[in-house]
Amino acid sequence: MDAKHPKAHIIGDVLIQNSKFRGVDGVKTRFDVVVIGSGPAGSSAAWEAAVNGVETLLLEEHERVGIPPHCAGILYDPDFQKLNFQLPENVIQTRVKAARIHVSDAATLEWRAPFTIVDRPRLDQYLADMAVKSGVELWTNTYARRVERCNGKVYVEALQRKSVKKIEALGVVAADGYKSQIRRSLGLPTKLELASCLQYEVDPSPLEDDDVMEIYIGGEYAPGGYAWIIPVSESSARIGLGVRGVKRGPKHYLDELTKRRCPEFKILKTMGHCVPLSGPLSKTFDDNVLFAGDAAGQVIPSSGAGITPSIACGRIAGSVIAHAVKSGAVASKHLSVYEKEWKKMLGRKFEATLRLKNLLDTLSTEEVEAIKEALKEVDASTLIREGRTLNLAFRILLKKPSLAKFLPIVYKVKKHGIF
Ligand SMILES: Cc1cc2nc3c(=O)[nH]c(=O)nc-3n(C[C@H](O)[C@H](O)[C@H](O)COP(=O)(O)OP(=O)(O)OC[C@H]3O[C@@H](n4cnc5c(N)ncnc54)[C@H](O)[C@@H]3O)c2cc1C
Repeated sequence: MDAKHPKAHIIGDVLIQNSKFRGVDGVKTRFDVVVIGSGPAGSSAAWEAAVNGVETLLLEEHERVGIPPHCAGILYDPDFQKLNFQLPENVIQTRVKAARIHVSDAATLEWRAPFTIVDRPRLDQYLADMAVKSGVELWTNTYARRVERCNGKVYVEALQRKSVKKIEALGVVAADGYKSQIRRSLGLPTKLELASCLQYEVDPSPLEDDDVMEIYIGGEYAPGGYAWIIPVSESSARIGLGVRGVKRGPKHYLDELTKRRCPEFKILKTMGHCVPLSGPLSKTFDDNVLFAGDAAGQVIPSSGAGITPSIACGRIAGSVIAHAVKSGAVASKHLSVYEKEWKKMLGRKFEATLRLKNLLDTLSTEEVEAIKEALKEVDASTLIREGRTLNLAFRILLKKPSLAKFLPIVYKVKKHGIF
């Protein structure tokens, strides 16, 4: 293992570092750690691994990091700040001070909370750039299709344009998104509950206030999910939604909302993708391999927020795999510390928000109506603003005692946050 990182250089779209282990084409084929996927989880893992002194290769199937984008770019500031990570100015598109939440036609609540809206491609590119500056070798246009383990080592088979590369390593971080080909290739559970999302960037922005985002909850807007309109600039906004369990795809619902909220608009960009909402996998480590980000289901189930958890878990994965490789202890039992660490940081939040999401899924029509009735009668915005969510919960409960099942979870979610 060479803890020092020789100066990197770029050949075509493949960033190469000097090394003695090279294949017939002169490209290095042996690393300490291979990270698969250059989203927030992968680049954070690679960055952390390199900082911890191991030779790290980062693979990305697309030509450019962060492209195509698939995100609204909302960061909930209180959670993101826990990462101690200063966002560069060019990544920040705007800041939002509140969310105006439309609950069907029953009520509009204002939740005053600070959010930062980021340009996802730029965020991903910044993280990958920091990884490369720390010594990571980045290969774009490289699709990892299989991982095999043999005699304590791990081999990644990857397609680079038309040629097949076989890379040897001691550890792998699979941060290859919700579809995770690596999970599949290792025969690990692949079933995650997904929300199908679609988003348009529109011009002009339909928002009255450019520092308030809008959220739409209710079956008529986005069954099994929610819709959002967020400011991007003075003249544009992102309008999108995620749905589950519907016959009609997200386009039907998004077009309805778009017609309603921005009748005269131009679509600047369209993006569609899925987000896993079933909470983290029951096991996020295996011999030589750690899973991070969407590949591990590390997304807040009540909101679909995955950027902050991906960076947090990616960093932990990078640090754990680096230490494991350095000490030659890469078996599953040694890597289990990864799961302990991310659970210490985020376990309770994942648990509370998953329970909330699952309970919301069980709401009967009568219970939904009772909630709407209660919201019509109380000044919910003021109660939320004053932090009196339990008071609000009790008022709703008076309307429908069966909703008492929510009380313990309301308390937990209040403590850990919903986004
Ligand atoms: C429409 C939408 C809006 C969202 N909005 C928000 C939001 O506002 N705030 C928020 O916090 N979260 C949001 N999310 C969730 C968030 O985008 C994800 O949770 C986050 O991107 C997860 O990061 P990741 O690094 O795990 O995976 P990804 O960002 O999916 O990155 C995976 C990377 O791996 C690459 N890859 C995949 N397979 C391979 C392979 N076999 N070989 C090589 N490379 C591979 C992909 O090209 C990709 O670059 C949203 C999701 C969607 C779908």
